[in-house]
Amino acid sequence: MKILLAGGAGYIGSHTAVALLEAGHEVVVVDNYCNSCAESIKRVEELTGKSVVSYEADVKDKAKMLEIFQANSIDCVIHFAGLKAVGESVQKPILYYRNNIDTTLTLLECMAETGVHNFVFSSSATVYGDSSNNPPYEESMERGKCSNPYGWTKSMMEQILQDAAVANKELSVVLLRYFNPIGAHPSGRIGEDPQGIPNNLMPYIAQVAVGRRDKLTIFGDDYPTPDGTCRRDYIHVMDLAAGHLQAVEFAVQNKGTEIFNLGTGTPYSVLEIVRAFENSNGIKVPFEFGPRRAGDLPAFWADASKAREVLGWRTTYTLEDMCKDTWNWQKNNPQGYRK
Ligand code: NAD
Ligand code: UDP
Repeated sequence: MKILLAGGAGYIGSHTAVALLEAGHEVVVVDNYCNSCAESIKRVEELTGKSVVSYEADVKDKAKMLEIFQANSIDCVIHFAGLKAVGESVQKPILYYRNNIDTTLTLLECMAETGVHNFVFSSSATVYGDSSNNPPYEESMERGKCSNPYGWTKSMMEQILQDAAVANKELSVVLLRYFNPIGAHPSGRIGEDPQGIPNNLMPYIAQVAVGRRDKLTIFGDDYPTPDGTCRRDYIHVMDLAAGHLQAVEFAVQNKGTEIFNLGTGTPYSVLEIVRAFENSNGIKVPFEFGPRRAGDLPAFWADASKAREVLGWRTTYTLEDMCKDTWNWQKNNPQGYRK
């Protein structure tokens, strides 16, 4: 199949490109590099020995996107092209609603005009909301009240895609609700390359370990959890990438909307992650406790049984793998993709 990866130069898109190419599919990447660079695609080609068709374009640009759809006979779209910084979304809600929702609508319009019927979407566990659902989260739970505009864009885009699939019986929509992706390709050639100060835990730990930051601040030590720090369901990005391969294969064989959690089903606390990183890599990660971060929930994790039963998808990487592969990427690329 020929699969269009909107936002395919980014962290999850580049790892998914490797998984798809290795399974024998062709990949077309469209990215405006607002949070990535073309170097990741070069490295995907180097890792797989295959070539990737790539376009520098804004996925909101309908005329350009239509040209791309017309020039390539696409079988399935995977939509990664979103802005994803929770804090920034509170400061710049309009930018987030415009970018995330407009990209989705543009892709749907181009698909309708060129006869493409399969759509896989990067959603998030954030759509389960702030307090209405108790973990482990199951796909059958109602979406909840999100605590920031980023989360609402995901919730709204899920609704838009579900409505589109109701109206168009040819359409197949797979909503993938990611939990906390971390790790990198075991080669250390591609990985997560945040711009500026990392918002997420694992990239922050990696930058402390490599000496780019002095110490980690752990946000809150008084949560109602065994060690007082928040618990999350961390998943290796290679397992997540494999989930996309299975989602694409599911999408082409089914119609309507299907939702899958992509998590391991096992939560770890912030302190457990710090200790696992230290023990896996033999490196100290200095940290201090700070106040809670607004909007953080004490604990959530996936019920991962549906993806296992329906897609036959299983996670195979351990927490130690996640820590080792993160460090392998960071130490070989201390400044990310920048030289
Ligand atoms: P990323 O920022 O590395 O990748 C997103 C890519 O989309 C980037 O390459 C960026 O340049 C591109 N992009 C954004 N807007 C665009 C536009 N208008 N036109 C063209 N390209 C555009 O992020 P990621 O971690 O790979 O996440 C991919 C998707 O998964 C995002 O939609 C994100 O919200 C979602 N997600 C990520 C996580 C996570 O923790 N990483 C968790 C849940 C969901
Ligand atoms: N966290 C932290 N310090 C940081 C970044 C994150 O203590 O510098 C905590 C955060 O409070 C949360 C967990 O690490 O409990 C995971 O945060 P992340 O932003 O990676 O993912 P989230 O689950 O919030 O999407």
